[in-house]
Amino acid sequence: LTQVRYPKLKRGNYSVISDKHISTFEKIIPGRVLTSATDDLESFNTDWLRTARGNSSVVLKPKSTEEVSEILKFCNQQRLAVCPQGGNTGLVAGSVPVFDEVILNLSLMRKIESIDTASGVIVCEAGCVLEELDNVLREKDLMMPLDLGAKGSCQIGGNVSTNAGGLRLLRYGSMHANTLGLIAVKADGTVVDALNCLKKDNTGYALHHLFVGSEGTLGVVTKVAIQCPHVPQAVSLMFLGLSDFASVMETTQRAKGFLGEILSSCELMDLECADAVVQNMKLKLPLERMPFYMLLETSGSNAAHDEEKLNAFLEAVMNQGLVLDGTVITEPSRLKAVWHLRECIAEALLRDGYVYKYDVTLPAQKFYDLVPFFNDKLKEAGALRCCAFGHLGDGNVHFNVTSTEFSYKLLGLIEPSIYEWTSKHRGSISAEHGIGLKKRDFLKFSKTAEAIEMMRDIKQVMDPNGILNPYKDLGEARGHEART
Ligand code: FAD
Repeated sequence: LTQVRYPKLKRGNYSVISDKHISTFEKIIPGRVLTSATDDLESFNTDWLRTARGNSSVVLKPKSTEEVSEILKFCNQQRLAVCPQGGNTGLVAGSVPVFDEVILNLSLMRKIESIDTASGVIVCEAGCVLEELDNVLREKDLMMPLDLGAKGSCQIGGNVSTNAGGLRLLRYGSMHANTLGLIAVKADGTVVDALNCLKKDNTGYALHHLFVGSEGTLGVVTKVAIQCPHVPQAVSLMFLGLSDFASVMETTQRAKGFLGEILSSCELMDLECADAVVQNMKLKLPLERMPFYMLLETSGSNAAHDEEKLNAFLEAVMNQGLVLDGTVITEPSRLKAVWHLRECIAEALLRDGYVYKYDVTLPAQKFYDLVPFFNDKLKEAGALRCCAFGHLGDGNVHFNVTSTEFSYKLLGLIEPSIYEWTSKHRGSISAEHGIGLKKRDFLKFSKTAEAIEMMRDIKQVMDPNGILNPYKDLGEARGHEART
């Protein structure tokens, strides 16, 4: 798949895995080396969207930082390329090999080391699944600061490595804000212990930030310390139907002003996304078909106060004709069901066949402009849906196009035009999913040449042999040009 869709990619000058390598891995992690000779490695080699597939013949499953260190030290000595992998829910083909890179899968590193209820800091291993952490924390009246549709599979190490955003970034901030410290292993096996658990620590360079969002290209994260908020006492959700995007914009502004201190999420889905959820997931919307839907969540400390505010807000925006219809939900099981409509959009679109997925940040006024810009020409070329959803409150739109199967024609009509358009309007070509393989050739649209050069300098220092997640982010490492 990958080689067909990215024909210009050439394998770097790395060693090829041999029986000798396998027997050394067996010595480091006995019984936790999967090989294509004896195991089915398809799911480790293929990404969630089924748009990229590598050809690795070995998956390693370490259980400790020391084991990760030994593995990387050996791979670095042997010039074996490595692809770090968490829950494999990434959407830019960063978590699967491109060629035959060794897959370093963190899923067995899932110990929770401590939960400090006084400070709200959790320390845990990188392989802990986000939803499982959240469930454990809730027993102690705490919660994870992030929530996303892939929570049942994505791992905290993957979340940190992609600087994941999600549904409540508006309220609780990014992984840069909430990761207090971490332990990471560099390409040569050196363990960098930067496991700070303090909210304030200005002792020189904040090294942990190097690993947040660097998508496994600078090191492998093995342990993290995350600042977690208290569970709010009252959570309510408003599901609104609107007729046009101007009304969506106006309602968002009103919500930020009126619900400011309790607003915890502000999401959008258009009608084509909603139709996909209804048709492909067999779910029901709480309102009739309308051009746009918004989900506004509030998290506060007094249910009666919040409900009163929400009802007053709903009445005001409906009286002004901004909102056609709306409903306020407070009952926990209904709340979960309505959130599910938003969370399963990605899955619903995937069920059309093939998804061209773009995650960008745009200035508020331009948030929805990509859809009218592309719609007609893409539909004429065979697209089934051309739609958008996303995190309105953060300016982060997920522009999606679906077709029954992959088409070069559609891809050519969308790329690089979408990145040029985003850059022209001073947006970012990646809001929260990262660069991975899919966007590596377009980094220049969001970073200056000098900034990219500095990224290369950092990569050179951290991983001079370029063994960590090659072909992703920056392309090939310096001095490690691809073999032609
Ligand atoms: P993987 O997919 O396994 O890996 C992602 C990247 O991180 C890869 O480059 C990999 O090499 C690297 N990596 C993984 N673990 C480590 C580690 N321990 N050390 C070093 N590098 C590592 N993302 C958002 O930001 N917001 C959303 O709202 C959101 N919603 C989603 C909804 C759905 C239905 C799906 C399928 C995905 C969604 N995503 C979203 C994307 C994805 O879930 C996130 O990027 C998530 O953080 C990836 O975590 P993971 O454990 O699956 O990482």
